[in-house]
Amino acid sequence: MQNLAILGSTGSIGQSTLDVVARHPDKYNVIALTANKRLDTLVEQAAVCLPKYIVCCDENDVSTLKELVSARGIPVEVLGGKSALIDVSCSSEVDTVMAAIVGAAGLQPTYAAVCSGKKVLLANKESLVMSGQLFMDAVKKHDAQLLPVDSEHNAIFQCLPIDAKNPKQDVSKILLTGSGGPFLNRDLATFDDITPAQACKHPNWSMGQKISVDSATMMNKGLEFVEAKWLFQSVADIEILIHPQSIIHSMVQYNDGSVLAQMGRPDMRTPIAHTLAYPERIASGVAALDFSEIAQLTFCPPDFERFPCLKLAIEASGSGQAATTAMNAANEVAVEAFLQSDIRFTQISDFVRETTEQFAHSEVLNIEDVVELDLVARTFTQEKMRSRAC
Ligand code: NDP
Repeated sequence: MQNLAILGSTGSIGQSTLDVVARHPDKYNVIALTANKRLDTLVEQAAVCLPKYIVCCDENDVSTLKELVSARGIPVEVLGGKSALIDVSCSSEVDTVMAAIVGAAGLQPTYAAVCSGKKVLLANKESLVMSGQLFMDAVKKHDAQLLPVDSEHNAIFQCLPIDAKNPKQDVSKILLTGSGGPFLNRDLATFDDITPAQACKHPNWSMGQKISVDSATMMNKGLEFVEAKWLFQSVADIEILIHPQSIIHSMVQYNDGSVLAQMGRPDMRTPIAHTLAYPERIASGVAALDFSEIAQLTFCPPDFERFPCLKLAIEASGSGQAATTAMNAANEVAVEAFLQSDIRFTQISDFVRETTEQFAHSEVLNIEDVVELDLVARTFTQEKMRSRAC
């Protein structure tokens, strides 16, 4: 029996995780669920899987949450605040942490889980983008097990040689695929008119709002490039390839000419089930691919003029830790502003560029520095937005 804490259980990844877990009551025991504002969803989830703890990240919501669970007679301990998120991530009652909070808010609880030597299922790519080397050093130091949930990284993980003594000798390239999002073929001259609703409508995947906008700007692929570098750069170089059908989730090219691809329907329950059960396999609820239904698999290189955020992320990954931390902060602020219709779609990359350039050379020596830089970069981006709006 694996004892689970699901951080961000009310989100898209969190709900898919609970779907997989519900199929295997003999294997998984939910100890903790956490949410930000969707308290009703959290209570519904608690009523079904009866965790020991539920956590809301705003302490002011604790009394409301307590009332909701007591009205339903759900026997669960209610906790609140950022420190409670960290407490459940580190709890000795927990073996495995699903890190599925969106954005920078996921960094500290995910890092805490790593520092407690947990098995960490990493969906929150932002924590690796923000703190790459520090995060990977902590994985090693505390003997944590880090398993990538992001479908591309999970695919690469599945395609890499398991027993090779020196995978660097065998692997020639990692091919990180991406669908290109909803605007792959949209007339570039109309990008200024893109609405939040259009940006959130991904052609293949159903996801939370923030990652949906990131997919539309292709910042998501940029964040994934940074994430892949931290996870796999010791093995081989990484190349991004557009594959609009999202059937192949990424590939590994070997020196002998072989290319291994991991395929499946675009449904996150597959990589979630893979990480939960690794090294075994469990049913995920995802139907098998029917190759006779697939008309074609196509590929093309990324277009950096259309997707400047992707280029920014690749460049930032070569500039060091502060650049990707600042870039991530600016992107979160800009995406939120776009969702509120305060800025245009095309302005997201402008704000990300300015903030990244401003802080690219800041000193980041520990997680406290990362958190501080994240805050300063957010304030800088917000101020730039305000001055632009005047
Ligand atoms: P959602 O927006 O659907 O869910 C986010 C979760 O985080 C919710 O539980 C939300 O709570 C919680 N949350 C939001 N803000 C805070 C905060 N400040 N403090 C604590 N908790 C918070 O996101 P997704 O599930 O789509 O994505 C989660 C992570 O997984 C992201 O990092 C994303 O990049 C990554 N990912 C997602 C994929 C997908 O298919 N969705 C694929 C690959 C990676 P509440 O519901 O109460 O707001």
